[in-house]
Amino acid sequence: ALLLDGKVAMISGAASARGIGLATARLFASHGATVAILDLDEGAAIEAATAIGPQHRGYACNVADKDACLQATERAIADFGRIDVLINNAGITQPVKTLEIDPASWDRILDVNLRGVLYLSQAVIPHMQAQGSGSIACMSSVSAQRGGGILGGPHYSAAKAGVLGLAKAMAREFGPSNIRVNCVTPGLIQTDISSGKLSDQQKTEIAASIPLNRLGNAEEVAGAYLFLASNLSAYITGAVIDVNGGMLI
Ligand code: NAD
Repeated sequence: ALLLDGKVAMISGAASARGIGLATARLFASHGATVAILDLDEGAAIEAATAIGPQHRGYACNVADKDACLQATERAIADFGRIDVLINNAGITQPVKTLEIDPASWDRILDVNLRGVLYLSQAVIPHMQAQGSGSIACMSSVSAQRGGGILGGPHYSAAKAGVLGLAKAMAREFGPSNIRVNCVTPGLIQTDISSGKLSDQQKTEIAASIPLNRLGNAEEVAGAYLFLASNLSAYITGAVIDVNGGMLI
């Protein structure tokens, strides 16, 4: 049976061609879901959605803007009548060191990666409560666990660690409403945010330090999101799934 048959899934940051969000939208659609793709540019979001199939929709949404989150959610509810799955995937990084973080970049990184998770969850959860069910998966990172990745700065690590705490708090608060909240913590995944910025030699060196000897791909993170979105994980909430090739062993 299809894992998300008849479900409606909203995915933030899902219009970028090589990104984890779009790979997730495609995988979810192949498992029977109807997807609402949210991204900064409405045209790009619509294009990404309709390329998957005519029943899917794209909406402009800057997740750091509370009104935009409320509006995109209302539009998706108007189109589909419900939201069963929320994937808080949107994120940005900036490869700087602690002493280089200025107040504006701190705000920018925290706003998108952490505040965005709060705002979109606040917009969607009342609908899940009314339905009596829901599954939310949030994007953290190995950067939260190791105190820094290859490309994220310390503010990125802080934001992604904040996502873990926020998600666990929401899992506790909304468990009684049958809303599950979990996180994924990817290692180095080949997308524009990451390997697009690395030389081939850097990639070879990094791969050698990972037990599975390679970088990950977007579909492999999408697989973890699919597990968390579906009823396969019905008794899992407040959990964190590492998708990192063994980087932390
Ligand atoms: P990506 O840059 O391809 O995708 C990020 C998407 O988020 C883009 O479509 C972008 O337009 C969108 N976005 C950016 N700011 C936004 C905002 N304010 N509102 C809405 N959308 C916004 O990169 P990706 O690797 O697919 O990243 C997806 C998520 O995975 C991010 O949260 C990232 O931090 C996280 N992550 C990535 C890796 C990796 O190695 N690629 C590792 C761990 C975590």
